[in-house]
Amino acid sequence: MRVGQGYDIHRLVADRPLRLGGIEIVSPVGLLGHSDGDVVLHAISDALLGAIGAGDIGQLFPDTDERWRGADSALLLAEVVRRVTAAGWVVVNLDATIHAERPKLATHRVAMRARIATLLGIGTESVNVKAKTNEGLDAVGRGEAIAATVVVLLEASTTK
Ligand code: MG
Repeated sequence: MRVGQGYDIHRLVADRPLRLGGIEIVSPVGLLGHSDGDVVLHAISDALLGAIGAGDIGQLFPDTDERWRGADSALLLAEVVRRVTAAGWVVVNLDATIHAERPKLATHRVAMRARIATLLGIGTESVNVKAKTNEGLDAVGRGEAIAATVVVLLEASTTK
C-alpha cells in the first residue's frame, strides 16, 4: 500500500469562474491560476503523484507552459490517474478537506464527491469531501483564497 498527501491554495478574484472539485459553482469570485485554478483537483493530483513517488503537478504541468493556460484540471488529473494505473496502483480511498470562508460549499459536496469518484474511476463511497471555514483567520479566513488538503491511499492492482 502507498499513502500520499496533497495541498494547494489559490487566490480568489472577481470575474473568474469558480471551479472546485471538478464542478462549476455559481459565485461572484473564482480562483486565479494558470489552469482553471481548481485547488481540490490539484491537491488530489499531488496526493496521487506523491503516493507513487512521481513528484508533483508543478513538474508535470509547468505554469510556464502555454499548453496548460486555462487548462481543465480534470484533464490534468486524468493524466495523473493514467500514470497511477500504469505504475500498477489503484485508489483505495481519498479524503479531501476544502478550506474556504466563501462561498458556502455544503450544498455542493455531493456533486463534488460524485465527480471526483468518476475522475478516479472508483465508487463514491471511497471518496469523502469535507468543507470548513478558517474561522476568519489568515488569507482563507479573509475570503482571499481557497485551499485544499487531500490524503489518498493506494493498493497494488491485482494485475500488477
Ligand atoms: Mg494549483
